[in-house]
Order: sequence, then C-alpha cells, then structure tokens
Amino acid sequence: MPDNFKMTIVGRGTAGCLSTMFFRYHCPEHMEVEWIYDSNTPTTLVGEGTDLSIPNLLNQATRWHWDDFAKMNGTSKIGIWKENFGKNPEPFLHAFNMGVTGLHLDSSKFQEKVLEQAKETPNITVIDKKIEDPEDIDATHVIWCGGTPKEFPEEEFTTIDSIALNATYITQCFWDKPQFNYTLAIARPWGWVFGIPLQHRCSIGYMYNKDITPLDIIKEDVKEVFDAWGLTPSDNTNAFSFNNYRRKEFRNGKVTYNGNSGFFYEPMEATSLHGVIAINQRSMDFLRGINTPHSLNMTDEFFDGIELLIAMHYPVGIITFFFYHFS
Ligand SMILES: Cc1cc2nc3c(=O)[nH]c(=O)nc-3n(C[C@H](O)[C@H](O)[C@H](O)COP(=O)(O)OP(=O)(O)OC[C@H]3O[C@@H](n4cnc5c(N)ncnc54)[C@H](O)[C@@H]3O)c2cc1C
Repeated sequence: MPDNFKMTIVGRGTAGCLSTMFFRYHCPEHMEVEWIYDSNTPTTLVGEGTDLSIPNLLNQATRWHWDDFAKMNGTSKIGIWKENFGKNPEPFLHAFNMGVTGLHLDSSKFQEKVLEQAKETPNITVIDKKIEDPEDIDATHVIWCGGTPKEFPEEEFTTIDSIALNATYITQCFWDKPQFNYTLAIARPWGWVFGIPLQHRCSIGYMYNKDITPLDIIKEDVKEVFDAWGLTPSDNTNAFSFNNYRRKEFRNGKVTYNGNSGFFYEPMEATSLHGVIAINQRSMDFLRGINTPHSLNMTDEFFDGIELLIAMHYPVGIITFFFYHFS
C-alpha cells in the first residue's frame, strides 16, 4: 500500500475492535490507522463465542496470554456440545483438533480492553465522535463497523430466507467458576439454546421465531436447560428480535461495511466474528491490488458457505437454501 495510505475504522463494537487489531497488525507501521466511535451509541453486547480464527489474530495483535484473557472473564472453547440434533438421541461434543481452540469472551470487558490498548498504541489515533456520512471521512479507505442498519432496502440487502429464527431470550447465570469449556448448542421444541461459559457467568440464549412462539413459552421451556445443566438463572435477562441479512455489495467506493452493518446470521456455529476477519482479509488483498475472485467479490462464496452451514441444521432451511440459490 502507498506510504500516505490512511485507514479509518468506525465503531468500537466487537467488529470494530477486531478490525482495528487486524489492520494495525497487518499493515505497515508507518500507515496511519484511525479509530472512530461514538460513545453515545452503545455497542451490542452479544457475540461471545468464536471459531478458531480469532485466537490467532489476538495472539498476533495483542500478545495477550491466557491469564490476561481470563482476567477479562474469557475462557477457551474446545468445541461445541450438540444436543438433540439429528436422529441420534445421544448428545455429542463436536471437538476441535488438539492444539487449537476458539474463545468465549465477555464482549463488554473485551471491547474495553482493546480500546484501552489502542489508546496506548502510538500509531493508532482514537477519536470519539459521531460520523454523519462515511463518505465524508478523510481517509483512503474506511471500514465501517457502525452496527445494525436502521433499514434494509431491497436494492442494498438480501434477506436470508433459509433461516427461520428472528428473536432471542438471553439469561445470565452466574457461577463461581466455569463448569465446562465448550459452547452449548441444544435443540429445543421452539428453536435452539446456546450456552457460553465465561469465568463468572454462563450466558444462556434461546433462539426462536417470535412470529410462531410467544416469549412466555420460551421463558418456560428454557427452565429445562437451567435444570439439566445445574445453572441458576439471574434477573439479568434480555429479549430482542433481529433480521438475518447480508449486503449485496459490501464495498461501496472507499467504504467497506463489516460486522452487523454488513451481515447478520443467527449465531449457530458462531460464524459472525470469523466473517469480520474474512471481510478484512479480502479488503486488504483488494487494497494491495491482489485481485483474486475472493478479494473482488468478497461476499458470495464465503457467505453462501456460512448460510449453507447454518441451513444444514434445519431440514426446512436446507430446502429453502437450495430452492433460493438454484431455482
Ligand atoms: C443472540 C446473539 C448471539 C450472538 N452470538 C454470537 C457468537 O457467539 N459469536 C459470534 O461470532 N457472533 C455472535 N453474534 C453476532 C454479534 O452480534 C456480532 O458479531 C457483534 O455484535 C458485532 O457487532 P458490531 O461490532 O458489528 O456492532 P455494534 O456492537 O453494534 O457496534 C457498533 C459501533 O458503531 C458505533 N457507531 C454507530 N454509528 C456510529 C456513527 N454514526 N459514528 C460513529 N460511531 C458509530 C457505535 O458507537 C458502536 O461502537 C450474536 C448475535 C446475537 C443477536
């Protein structure tokens, strides 16, 4: 990249944090990296499980060790515990290979720590201000991680029809120490339940369709999960709905949309943060003039793969996926 290249990242949610780390680590020291966020717009405090790509980046970019990470309430993730999926009635651990792990991170603590570290890094400029239009930013390239768009116009976004879930009910269950070191994925009558074990709490989220099942039924059904795993639910709960979508074009002029501003798929298999890294890798190739099909059209193949991976968990989803893509 040319000497006077300036990269600006907007947003300090998990996508903005990972993008800042990514570009600071992978771009030459002399390249200007600016990180802008609006402290009056809160970040989204979900997204606490990762695949295998994130620890690698954290190791390269931060040099944190496991004990640093544990102080941020994080734990390692050796795989995903699958229950009630498929015809096999036995639960099973979809374990990662030995020597590699994913992470469970406390998104609030994680974001605070990355910001603190960035402020101490001489060649990152951190600015707290609200941006009205990304095009107005004085930068060669902008990675916009501004969070979930307010609207999803058809000409800009594709709705993911193969995913039927659109709401979640999350309960924090506090404990003295982690009781397991894998993510839970438990199929339930109305959707599925994730469990993310952190040092001080386990986050239990029931993913369901609010147009089919009322929240009261979900609140009742999730009690079976608390009982089965010996968890004590607290009053710290959160219920909200979401859309599953992706942008038709992730890059528009000098702006690349990343994180929730670019795509959102329900968190089965924890693919979102991996998607953030994939977009950054493809952007960097593009900016360096490495014009592979991946770097030019960064969305199609990668996100089709993620969509198929998620759809395969649902018989109806997989039929919809093939109908949508091949009819
Ligand atoms: C129930 C649930 C569970 C999930 N679990 C997982 C999981 O286990 N693993 C996973 O990988 N993903 C998961 N996700 C996905 C997760 O939500 C996202 O990966 C993550 O939250 C990324 O958020 P973000 O950084 O894009 O946006 P946000 O966290 O919303 O951050 C937006 C940032 O942009 C800033 N901003 C916004 N507008 C402006 C402006 N105009 N000017 C300046 N700054 C601005 C804000 O200040 C903020 O800092 C889950 C999602 C849900 C709903």
